[in-house]
Amino acid sequence: MDNSTTRRTDPDCLFCKIVAGDIPATVVHEDEATLAFRDLDPQAPTHVLVIPRHHVADVGGLATERPQDAVAVLDTVRAVAEQEGVATSGYRTVFNTGAGAQQSVFHAHVHVLGGRSMTWPPG
Ligand code: AMP
Repeated sequence: MDNSTTRRTDPDCLFCKIVAGDIPATVVHEDEATLAFRDLDPQAPTHVLVIPRHHVADVGGLATERPQDAVAVLDTVRAVAEQEGVATSGYRTVFNTGAGAQQSVFHAHVHVLGGRSMTWPPG
C-alpha cells in the first residue's frame, strides 16, 4: 500500500498525458485524486471514464496499492452519474481488466455508461 502523496506518472501512458493536460479531453469532473472525461468512442449517450490521477495499471493494482484512490474513484463515479442525470435511471460501471477483457489502456479506469437500456450478459 502506498500512502504517499507523491503521484506516479508514466511518460508513455495515454491517460497520464490527459492528466498532465498534454492530450486534450472533455473533462466533466476533477478533484485532487481523480479525473473524469468523456470517452472518445462513446458506447452510450453517457460514456465517461473515471481514472485515478496516480498511475496504476488496473483496478487490482488500484485496490492493493492505492485503496484511498479506489474510494475516490468510486465517489467520482457517483458524482458523475448524478451530474449526467443517470443516477436514478441506472448506469453501468465497467473495469476491463487485462487484454482478454479488452483492456486497451493500462492505466486504471472505470467506464460509466448510461442513458440507454443495457443488456446482460455483456459481450
Ligand atoms: P479499455 O478498452 O477498457 O482500456 O478502455 C479504454 C477507453 O479509452 C476506450 O473506450 C477508448 O475509446 C478510450 N480512449 C482512448 N483514447 C482516448 C482519448 N484520447 N480520450 C478519451 N477516451 C479515449
